[in-house]
Amino acid sequence: MPDKGRDVVALPVSDAHVDVLMRMLEEKLPFYPEDGTETPVDSSSNVLEAGRMQADFSFLRAGNVVTQVFALFVSPHLSEDSQLVSVLREIDCFYQGVVKHGRVRAARTRKDVESAHAAGEIAGILSIEGAACLLGDPAILRMMYRLGVRGVGLTWNPANRLADGCQEPRDGGLTEAGRRIVAEIGKFPMWIDLAHLGDQSVRDVLSLHAGPIMASHANARSVFGHPRNLPDEVISEIISRRGWMGLVFQSFFLSGDVPSSFEDLARHIDHVLALGGEDFLGFGSDFDGGITPPVGLENASRYSTLSDWLCVRYGTELARKLLFDNFDNFLGRSLRESP
Ligand SMILES: [Zn+2]
Repeated sequence: MPDKGRDVVALPVSDAHVDVLMRMLEEKLPFYPEDGTETPVDSSSNVLEAGRMQADFSFLRAGNVVTQVFALFVSPHLSEDSQLVSVLREIDCFYQGVVKHGRVRAARTRKDVESAHAAGEIAGILSIEGAACLLGDPAILRMMYRLGVRGVGLTWNPANRLADGCQEPRDGGLTEAGRRIVAEIGKFPMWIDLAHLGDQSVRDVLSLHAGPIMASHANARSVFGHPRNLPDEVISEIISRRGWMGLVFQSFFLSGDVPSSFEDLARHIDHVLALGGEDFLGFGSDFDGGITPPVGLENASRYSTLSDWLCVRYGTELARKLLFDNFDNFLGRSLRESP
């Protein structure tokens, strides 16, 4: 139940990465409770609830999440054709099982995001995580855009036809097909997501792409050395280009200690703030992506706990920037009206 006696207004939250659609497709889990009523949230529980998603509608609502990016992730070990089919099915899950009048609105433009918020709905945005599903074909990228996709991460951890991911030892950067896709993305109001890319691929994207860049779910490598985390020069480039970076609640990337703590998260926040990231930092939880979150952040409802904690540590104004404003402003810069 909600904490009694809290007279502070819960801050709104933007979250740039959950894997809800993958779990809906693979495990047949519902985004809404079967009976259409909202299940009560036991916010005193520290354990992950079996058979329930970490970012279903009730948890998002309880955490006051008002903007949510839904990742389109499928196993990179499938054939490209199968990945395309699965991504299309996940997009169908979004429109059939998530988008619902009065609850979640499919947001394609800045105006859609504003309208959703004004109506008390969650603004839901689609983003590709691992773009092997595009088959290197700009035509498929354009169709994804028409289906509402507004962000593209070129790879997951391994290499694919487009680029080398962060676990490809060759670290060879973008391929010719990857360069073609990046050029096509540049024609649309879409962002490129740097999370999961190999270091040379990140450098290639930064030199080829003048449009919006962000890292939806990654931490600072100089705080904790892991290939999924970003080096300082990339974080600085994101900041100087007015992009955005979302810290991920995966303990293995926060501190390596399992589970991690709010203090571990704060070390990454402090570091990015020291690099000048006050207006370009936020969160991409990776809920439902198989993460082991910090103690106290077991599901999206716990954003209310994080919110209180951030307010105490950083003050309400900065807490609000980190939880909501910065990503909202990034969307404002990135999602202009459709061409
Ligand atoms: Zn991921």
